[in-house]
Formats: sequence, C-alpha cells, structure tokens
Amino acid sequence: MSDSLQPIPVGQALTRRTRMGRVVWQDHVVTVGGDAPVRVQSMTNTDTADAVATAIQVKELAQAGSELVRITVNNDEAAQAVPYIREQLDRMGVHVPLIGDFHYNGHKLLTDHPACAEALSKYRINPGNVGRGDKGDRQFAQMIEVALRYAKPVRIGVNWGSLDQDLLARLMDDNARRAVPWDVKQVMYEALITSALDSSAKAEAMGMPREDIVLSCKVSGVQDLIAVYQALALRCDNPLHLGLTEAGMGTKGTVASTAALAVLLQQGIGDTIRVSLTPQPGESRTQEVVVASEILQALGLRAFVPSVTACPGCGRTTSTVFQEMAKQIDDYLRASMPAWRSQYPGVENLKVAVMGCIVNGPGESKHADIGISLPGTGEAPAAPVYIDGEKVLTLRGEGIASEFQAIVDSYIRRRFGAVAGAPSAS
Ligand code: SF4
Repeated sequence: MSDSLQPIPVGQALTRRTRMGRVVWQDHVVTVGGDAPVRVQSMTNTDTADAVATAIQVKELAQAGSELVRITVNNDEAAQAVPYIREQLDRMGVHVPLIGDFHYNGHKLLTDHPACAEALSKYRINPGNVGRGDKGDRQFAQMIEVALRYAKPVRIGVNWGSLDQDLLARLMDDNARRAVPWDVKQVMYEALITSALDSSAKAEAMGMPREDIVLSCKVSGVQDLIAVYQALALRCDNPLHLGLTEAGMGTKGTVASTAALAVLLQQGIGDTIRVSLTPQPGESRTQEVVVASEILQALGLRAFVPSVTACPGCGRTTSTVFQEMAKQIDDYLRASMPAWRSQYPGVENLKVAVMGCIVNGPGESKHADIGISLPGTGEAPAAPVYIDGEKVLTLRGEGIASEFQAIVDSYIRRRFGAVAGAPSAS
C-alpha cells in the first residue's frame, strides 16, 4: 500500500535544561530547574507579623499543592514572626520551604534577624529597590552575604513596576545614540533582562553558584511576558521563575496567566510558576495554586489531582443532575488528595468522566479510567458505568451520585492502594 501520510507526532512540551538548584528545609528538598518537575509556588496575603494566621494560610496553600510558599518580610515584626511561623508549620508536619519576599530593607532585616534568615529557605531580592548607586550595590551584597552564610538560594526577581530607574535611564540614553533607536518597549525588555543578569553576575562573583540564583522578569502583559522570557532564556541557564505580575481577578487573571505560561512552558521555558491572582471577595487564597497546578496538568507536564472530564451540556440534557454530579466528584477528589497523595501513589493520574447523554457519554467514558454516562432528556433513566473501557453496570434511581462515588473509591483502593498496602478509601 502506498501511503504518503506520515504519523502526526505526539504533542509534548519541549525540554530546556537549566541548572538544577535546591530549596531545602531540614530533610525536605525541593529541586528546581534541570530535569526537576516545574514547581508550583504561591504567596500568602496575611500580615506576616500574625504568625498564627500566616502559618494557617501557608498550610492551606501547601495542602492545595504549593511546593514553595513565599511570605512578605517587610518589617521587624514580620522578621521576628518568621521563626515562629516555621516552628508552627513543622509542628503541624508541614515542611514546605518558606521564601522571604524582601523589598527596600531586606539587607537590614536579614542582618538584624538571624533566626529569620535561618528559618527561611530562600530569599527573593528585587534589584529595583535594594537602593541606588553604590549604596544599592552594598545593600545587595549584604543580602547575598547572608544567603551565602546560611547556604540559601535566592531569586533575583525583577519587576517592571519597580525596575531599576538608573539602569533604565542609562539604556534609554544608549538607545537615543543608536542610528535607528529601538522602540521604547524593547528598551524596557532589555532593562528587565539586564537587571536580572547583572545582579546574577554580581551574586556569582561573590561565590554564589548559578544554580542557586533563580531569575524572574515579571510584567503584566501576556505578549510582553512571552517576549521577555524567550529572550532571557536564550541568554542564561539559571533556573527561571515564571508568572504574570498582577494577573488580575477571576476569569481574566486565570486566562491571562494560562495564555502566557502555556506558551512559555510548551517551549520548555520555566522551572517554577506562580499565578498571581487577585482573590475575589470570599475566594480562598488557594485558588492560585489550583490554577497553577491545572496549567501544568493540562499541558501534560505534571499530574496533581485526578482529572474529571465533563461535557458542557446542551439541549439534550435539560436537568442540572450531571453538572451537580461532575462538581460533586471533582470536589470530592480534590478534597481527598491531601490524604490520598501518600496513601495511593499515582492516584493523581486517574481520569474520571461524567457525561450528560448518550451522544458522547459512552465514548468519553470508555476513554477514561472510570466514567458514567447520565441519561439525557428523553433517554431511559439509566446511567451506564464504564471501568477501564468496559461497561460494568448500570445505575438507576435517586442515589446515582453516591453510588458512583463509592465505585470510584473502590476503584482507587483496588488500583492504587495495593502497591502501598494502603488503608481503604472511605
Ligand atoms: S454529551 Fe450529550 S449532553 Fe453532553 S454536550 Fe454532548 S450531546 Fe450534549
């Protein structure tokens, strides 16, 4: 048979190797860069001086899947609270590394509060606000000295909202002398990258290994972020932290972050990510962890929670039964993950389908590990359940949701519990 068709390559994100660093708290090691998985990071919004509230929020973020949590360290009270936050987390069995976010006075706080410097696992330094001129160089060096003393990695976190103004002015002057000056935006991109690379070179010159210097250049526009990181990735092999700064609220923040991060991650750019969502009133801070994890999971880079495939519904299903059931199963799987992660290794790869009618229901359910096809309008009131591609039973009546949940439980126990000799899912 003559066949001019070629098989279509299976889609996957590219791999770009950076140096691999480590963020450590006692025996708990989180590798960053190299061939380590892309890490999810988050940041608290409590007053760090309130050690109890901050420890509780860090715990929530860690339980939601955040592998590194950043906390603001902005004054003496906050710096004094850091060792207590660390102590409370350790007492709760939460060993997630804490990153201190410093601006303006980091050199002083880290020097004046050695217990804070020791309890943190990494320091974020913004070169745009360490001070200007020689004073800025001295204060930057002071922070690097503390990091070296306590063997802590750093992130040089440049942000276009607080860009080094002297550097920007110098690059603007250089640009004015060009035969064909660059667009102002391109000078801004260059200033962001130069600020990160120059600061990294200064830290390296003081003895800090490059793998311990994570770089970020955050901006708030999707195309700007993509342009800056593509250029930055070509010019260094430091681990890179990605994120839109001030992504915004709700759908806008989620979509903008996803659009920017997905393009870069697909190109192999990015070793840690944060989704800087502004929480909507009453929304949990953990939503930013959920979105970051979903981006990585959707790209096939990581698996964090079992995925629930649900159809959007249409005129063939006029009741809300399948929407409620899809949500119930999704909520149940997410809520169970903190315990299941250790009890059922690999459960995060589980695929569940909850479908609205016979059109795509049986087919999609067969593609999942376990799926249910609910009856659409006018169909017989029966819901076939598929396990590993085979129809195994049909559910009927009022208790379909709870019966399906019990079937999911039993499947998880059988498939993922045997390996670890784990207790039953209940
Ligand atoms: S599976 Fe059925 S209910 Fe769901 S979107 Fe398709 S046709 Fe509509």
